[in-house]
Amino acid sequence: MPKRIVIVGGGAGGTISANLLARNLYRELVRGEVVINMITNTPEHIYQPGFLYIVFDKIRPNEIIRQQKDLLDPHINLFIDPAKKIDRENNVVITESGKEYPYDYLIVATGSKTVPEEIPGLKEGGHMFYTLEDAKKLRDALREFKGGRVVITVGVPHKCPVAPLEITFMLYDYFKEKNMLDNVELFYTYPINRLHALEPVSNWAVPQFEKRGIKYEVMFNMETIDPEKKIIYSMEGTELNYDLLIAVPPHSGAKVIEESGMGDKGWVPTDKRTLHAEGYDNIYVIGDTTNLPISKAGSTAHFEADVVAERLSIELLEGKSSVEYDGKVVCFVETGFDEATYVWFNYDTPPNPTPPSRMLHWMKLGYNRLYWLSARGIL
Ligand SMILES: Cc1cc2nc3c(=O)[nH]c(=O)nc-3n(C[C@H](O)[C@H](O)[C@H](O)COP(=O)(O)OP(=O)(O)OC[C@H]3O[C@@H](n4cnc5c(N)ncnc54)[C@H](O)[C@@H]3O)c2cc1C
Repeated sequence: MPKRIVIVGGGAGGTISANLLARNLYRELVRGEVVINMITNTPEHIYQPGFLYIVFDKIRPNEIIRQQKDLLDPHINLFIDPAKKIDRENNVVITESGKEYPYDYLIVATGSKTVPEEIPGLKEGGHMFYTLEDAKKLRDALREFKGGRVVITVGVPHKCPVAPLEITFMLYDYFKEKNMLDNVELFYTYPINRLHALEPVSNWAVPQFEKRGIKYEVMFNMETIDPEKKIIYSMEGTELNYDLLIAVPPHSGAKVIEESGMGDKGWVPTDKRTLHAEGYDNIYVIGDTTNLPISKAGSTAHFEADVVAERLSIELLEGKSSVEYDGKVVCFVETGFDEATYVWFNYDTPPNPTPPSRMLHWMKLGYNRLYWLSARGIL
């Protein structure tokens, strides 16, 4: 009987871990001693950081989409059939079509999704850029925008914590290029008492905002939006009028997680070092869907996938593994159209943003292309 590895979710974390496992376990796969089954809910794989560039017409949608089957090692079995229930007591994943996928080891990588419906009026009155459709709509709205107050507001929790800063800096350069800065007020809001969750990033961002004349209000948690009056109301009792509202909506994890009783709002309680689902040594959790107190980011998913693939391969080939995740996250942060900064941090080391440079911007653009190598487990 082969050892069965099931991976649920074919995004960044699921795809990288699957390909790394296929490489580490090549002989065992060929001999039929190990089987890797990936269950995901869409045939397309979308590179989400590309949405920022879609907004500003700097990338075409087809550049950020690949067929999932083309990204996977041929030894991995791909099933496009959303997982409906994960039965941890019987070690089986049941899909929407009613099929059952028993596992010896399970990797959960179902990511996160936006839930704008949690904020009344947001879908009707605001723009977003966290899905391809939303990014295209915002791009079209910007093309029509004649000037006024642009409010950028942020819900919690959300993935890619630096994206709200990036879009603000890119909007500044966009309006500068269009000679509209005299006619546009950029207004950024953030839900805690500083500009970013990570204090060193916030301290770095303050002079960047001041240099550009970007206004801001902190301790602002969007509660409702009145699309007719174009006003956003905060839970703290303040309100802001806007001409264009750009929101990062709150997120939740996948429905299957909550419906399987694996975690509130779809976030799975996860061991911060081993990445085991708490209480289950044969279940690993990767990426946005963990409940870990670190950035929900593609780089997080990537570094976690490295650890899980390594641990699982060693467990299968040699017994117990001592490889652990140290909380590493790396982000290139656009500070406009032609410069970027860079942060890396882990559980023990805080981030320390470097001065923005053109080289870092080109590195971010370079990685956008190289992502497809990362997904294949090559980079
Ligand atoms: C605008 C934007 C900018 C970003 N910029 C950056 C950046 O610069 N750097 C960075 O590191 N990160 C960035 N990110 C974040 C990054 O894209 C995510 O954190 C990363 O994709 C998370 O990987 P994941 O594998 O956890 O989830 P995902 O990549 O979202 O994959 C989850 C997968 O699970 C599948 N799935 C969901 N439910 C089911 C189900 N029931 N059954 C089967 N499959 C299911 C989904 O279809 C999807 O394929 C950005 C994100 C956005 C939106």
